[in-house]
Amino acid sequence: MKIIYTVNELRRAVRDAKSNQSVIGLVPTMGALHQGHLSLVARARKECDFVIVSVFVNPTQFNNPDDLRTYPRSEEADCELLRQAGADVAFVPSVSEMYPEPDTRIFDLGKVAQVMEGAMRPGHFNGVAQVVSKLFDFTQADRAYFGEKDFQQIAVIRAMVASEGFKTQIVPCPIVRESDGLALSSRNVRLSGEQRAVAPRIHAILAESCIGANEKSVGEVKQFVCDGISAIEAMRLEYFEIVNPTTLESLPDDAPCSDAVGCITVWLGDVRLIDNIKYSAL
Ligand code: AMP
Repeated sequence: MKIIYTVNELRRAVRDAKSNQSVIGLVPTMGALHQGHLSLVARARKECDFVIVSVFVNPTQFNNPDDLRTYPRSEEADCELLRQAGADVAFVPSVSEMYPEPDTRIFDLGKVAQVMEGAMRPGHFNGVAQVVSKLFDFTQADRAYFGEKDFQQIAVIRAMVASEGFKTQIVPCPIVRESDGLALSSRNVRLSGEQRAVAPRIHAILAESCIGANEKSVGEVKQFVCDGISAIEAMRLEYFEIVNPTTLESLPDDAPCSDAVGCITVWLGDVRLIDNIKYSAL
C-alpha cells in the first residue's frame, strides 16, 4: 500500500491505474478507523481493482470548533489498518493540500440537506460536499462507499453527484455495530465508562420501536422512542424523525410507520451520537 500526501501524486496514481482499465473505488473517511470503516474498505476491495481510502479530518464540515479540536486522530494506526485491509492507497493530505485557498463554493443540495443534521449543523453538508467533490475529482472514482450510519449524508452525496454531474456510483453499506448494539463511531472513544454503559440503549430502543411498527402510526412510534430516550438521565435527545428514505421528508404523525427510516441524534454529555433504523414496508 502506498501512503500519498499530495494531490499531484494521487492524480498520478489514478492515471496509472486508469491506464490499466482498473475500476477505482474510493472510501472517504476522517480516520480514527474502526470496523465500520473497514467494512467499507472490504466491500470496495471485493468490487474494485484499485482501492483508495482517504483519511482527512475536514475542517469545513465542522460547525463546532470544539468538535474539530477534540476529534480523535490516529494517522499511523489508521495506515496500518488500511495496509492490513488491502487498500492500494491511503490518501492522507494536510489541510493546506486539500484547501490551498479557501473553498467558497456553495452547493445546491436541495431539501435533503436542509432537515435534521442540515438544520442542526448549519454549513455541515456544504462542507461535506466541498471535500467529497474534491475527492471525486482527484480520484475519478468509479464507485464510492458510504456507511448507512450517516443515512442523510448518503442522500446529500447523491444530490451533490447529480448537481455536479459526477459519474461516480454511490454504494451504501450497512451499519456495523458493537455486540451490544451501539453503532461504531470514532466519537465513541470520548464516552466515559458510565456513558458507554448506557449508549447501547439508543439502538435497543430503536429496535424495540420496530416491533409491530407497521400496525402503529408514525406519531405513536415517535412517542415511544422519545419517551424511552427521555427516561435515561445521561441522555439528551436532539431529534428523532421518521422520514421517507429517499426524500427525507418527515412522515405525518397519522401515517402508518412503514417503508421509512427513523433518524436519531442523542447527546451524552458533550458527545453527539447519531443512529438510525429502517421500518420495513407493509
Ligand atoms: P467518518 O470517518 O465518520 O466520516 O466516516 C467515514 C465513512 O464511514 C462514512 O461513510 C460513514 O458513514 C462510515 N461509517 C462510520 N461508522 C460506521 C459504522 N458503524 N458502520 C458503517 N459505516 C460507518
